[in-house]
Amino acid sequence: MTSGAVYLDHNATAPVCNSARQAVAEALQITGNPSSVHRQGARARQVVDMAREQILGLLGNPEAEVVFTSGGTEANNLALLGSGLPVFASAIEHPSVIEAVRSDGEGPIMIPVDRTGIVALDELDRLLAGVTDRFLVSIMLANNETGVIQPVSEAARLVHDRGGLLHCDAVQGPGKVTVDMDALGADLLTLSAHKFGGPMGVGALVIRKGVEIRAMNLGGGQEGYRRAGTHNLPGIAGFGAAARTIAQSGPFDQGIRDYLEVQCVARGASVIGAQAPRLPNTACLTMPTVSSETQVMALDLEGIAVSAGSACSSGKVGPSHVLAAMGIPPDVASTAIRVSMGTSTQRDEIDRFIAAWTTIYERAHTPARARMAS
Ligand code: PLP
Repeated sequence: MTSGAVYLDHNATAPVCNSARQAVAEALQITGNPSSVHRQGARARQVVDMAREQILGLLGNPEAEVVFTSGGTEANNLALLGSGLPVFASAIEHPSVIEAVRSDGEGPIMIPVDRTGIVALDELDRLLAGVTDRFLVSIMLANNETGVIQPVSEAARLVHDRGGLLHCDAVQGPGKVTVDMDALGADLLTLSAHKFGGPMGVGALVIRKGVEIRAMNLGGGQEGYRRAGTHNLPGIAGFGAAARTIAQSGPFDQGIRDYLEVQCVARGASVIGAQAPRLPNTACLTMPTVSSETQVMALDLEGIAVSAGSACSSGKVGPSHVLAAMGIPPDVASTAIRVSMGTSTQRDEIDRFIAAWTTIYERAHTPARARMAS
């Protein structure tokens, strides 16, 4: 293995930023439950309230309400199940949306995407045509596998015209693109701290004022009776600090991602979602005939961390529902890897990736006899 690790899996989790590290350490010094009335409780409550403000500052919506959760998965579950409404969701949503099935067995109705990975708004329009009850539509801001950015504000207009609510899973947004809750037209919005420099295990469902959500976690009055359970104080403190840091940082420069794609395409790769607007840090690359699992393992041996395009949360590689929804044939989808960069990613790290990728490609495409002779 070459020395020095190269981390190119920021869409899976991003490194914890300094401000979050410090805020977590400070919160760990506090003894006091944010729900307690004494002054130690009030001190802890201040930390939670400050984090709420920092998160709303990032979203540009001081009027909205933040319900802290254990992460993006729980926030998505809460949005869909807590709304109590019939749900329409794009076919490329995270499993925490797609698998949020109500106790009556009703899961989301799928909205297809086109070949570029963008949700088909004409199909959404058609699906909503016969709907008379109130409903919820869930469309993510950007897809975690391909980086394709979705037309959320257009979808919101369509949904609101018909009297529905719009939920946006914006987990992959902060730190990569602007996440403005009003501009998106979102009534409900999901965030996860560990995707943009905060700690793991904390997230939020942000709720536009006046929108009703019923608790899924029962047994306490925390978060306005919408999420029972003692607050994760250090996590929330780190989440708020990371949100403030992101709100103060400039736009993500996509130059390094574009460089990587040009180099790999010249060597035989193709880029999934290339025709659509995408997150500036994400490249979903296929390597003809070489399985994504083989690529991930071979790159790991070189100290380079990426994900299989189709990696699932169990760590196993399975067929990607995202690539299937885009109409990508299974034999191509099974060769996709996701390379996701951060603001700290350096050009020489990308050069190491390109060199390793090229070696894997050449090894796979050079007949064994020719390899032995050389
Ligand atoms: N939504 C999207 C788009 C994601 O990429 C993820 C994580 O991969 C989640 C939701 C789940 O977030 P968490 O890991 O905080 O549960």
